[in-house]
Amino acid sequence: MAVNFNNYRQVLQQLEPYKAKLVAVSKTKPVEDIRDLYAEGQRIFGENYVQELVDKAGQLPQDVQWHFIGHLQSNKVKYIAPFVGMIHGVDSLKLLAEISKQALKHHRVIDCLLQVHIATEETKFGLSETELFQLLEQAGSLAGVRIAGLMGMASNTDDETQVRREFAGLKTLHNAVKEKYFPGDEFFKELSTGMSGDYKIALEEGSTLVRIGSLLFGARNYA
Ligand SMILES: *Cc1c(COP(=O)(O)O)cnc(C)c1O
Repeated sequence: MAVNFNNYRQVLQQLEPYKAKLVAVSKTKPVEDIRDLYAEGQRIFGENYVQELVDKAGQLPQDVQWHFIGHLQSNKVKYIAPFVGMIHGVDSLKLLAEISKQALKHHRVIDCLLQVHIATEETKFGLSETELFQLLEQAGSLAGVRIAGLMGMASNTDDETQVRREFAGLKTLHNAVKEKYFPGDEFFKELSTGMSGDYKIALEEGSTLVRIGSLLFGARNYA
């Protein structure tokens, strides 16, 4: 399955008026596909699995910005801390503390997004609103991380009204957090929402980073 360059250009056109950025989600896809999009000018790529990310990063140019978008286990942070550009799915103080510790070992500060659970589906990932504020109260002293914003995944449904409501709710929460913890700060400006199926709605509801995979690289095969 090759890269769909038409879809790539269409997505970039959609992002343009919003000044939003594209995370090209290349999980499970071969390095050749990443090279093809890199040649088109794409620099931000998203991966879900630590080993796969480390392998791919070693084979691609240094100026690729790697975003880790999956569920990250604390004991694996050390493998990506030397080079990862942003970590999207942080949902515990333990994980954030480990990222900070590993970042400092490499004299780095790693941008992190806190993942909030906005979908109706049951999942163990993502913070509730209450947990989010608790984490923010406790995260202040971690010198190796910069909390760059929030991340969320809407319900997997055809009901656009519901998806829109979930994205809009996260945007409202983002505003509240910004006002309380990062006022006047140039940081905490990212809102990572939207995937292949719902990114247009996400853009209308304030997304600054869309994470798009199958639209660019074709359907994934987990066989
Ligand atoms: C796989 C994945 C995506 C991309 O999904 P598509 O529907 O293929 O665009 C986005 N975000 C996360 C967290 C993912 O795991």
